[in-house]
Amino acid sequence: MPRSPSLALLAASALALPLHAQVPADTAPVSCSSCAEWNQPQRPFRVFGNTWYVGTHGLGAILVTSPRGHVLIDAALPQSAPLVMANVRALGFRVEDIRLILNSHVHFDHAGGLAAVQRVSGARVAASASSARVLERGASGPDDPQYGSLPGFPAVRGPVQVVADGETVRVGDLALTAHATPGHTPGGTTWSWRSCEGERCLDLVYADSETPISADGFYFTRNTTYPGIVADFERGQAVLERLSCDVLLTPHPGASSLFERLAARDAGAPDAFVDRAACARYAATAREALARRLAEERAKLGG
Ligand SMILES: [Zn+2]
Repeated sequence: MPRSPSLALLAASALALPLHAQVPADTAPVSCSSCAEWNQPQRPFRVFGNTWYVGTHGLGAILVTSPRGHVLIDAALPQSAPLVMANVRALGFRVEDIRLILNSHVHFDHAGGLAAVQRVSGARVAASASSARVLERGASGPDDPQYGSLPGFPAVRGPVQVVADGETVRVGDLALTAHATPGHTPGGTTWSWRSCEGERCLDLVYADSETPISADGFYFTRNTTYPGIVADFERGQAVLERLSCDVLLTPHPGASSLFERLAARDAGAPDAFVDRAACARYAATAREALARRLAEERAKLGG
């Protein structure tokens, strides 16, 4: 991470500001080995129709807009929230018009910025039952395979609206459907919706992370805190395989080659984001990763 002299200057100038102008607590930076790289700014852009990318260069945030209010999915790190909100404004939308905030999964790198966006927008937050509890607490519990190895994040103001698997949430004409894709976290959720440009409509999918990782000492095949984890991963992968999916988006944009596709579109391929097989391929990659993880565990545990 570059050690910039401007940071010291920033800190000094913050001290000189009146209290209310200082960095709000809910955007205070979390530190992690990838955080600086993840938080590189990114010019926002239209994905398709009323769907926009407003995340940082390393962490996804998706805005779906309508004349009667917008939906935001994910807001990256706490320190990403100002970048995400600036991106929303740069596109000509008002943060105050975000009516509903959704989340892929309750880790600091995707849920960290939600509290700040909620504070500014006043939007309601909706999530799976398991995720709702974590969002209200700002910390995951022992059923998170990475419990104890990840930083917490600013809690959102409750109560979080609980959304069931398969339920559709609405803002004006916008309708986004929740698909339970647990495993990476117990409450992990994939969101799907339809966006149109004129007569042409596409099914968009923001597929949750499928990486089968854990804190040291947590075994997928031998644990008491999330015993259903393997079956959950498999259930989520089957969901991703079946979803109608024209455009795949992911919380880590690299997992769906977002910027390669953007470059291809900028170079003159108008449909570079469209790939009917992308979700099935994403599911297949996830299956392979899970199989590798289970093989490693078997080797380690001698089972
Ligand atoms: Zn995660």
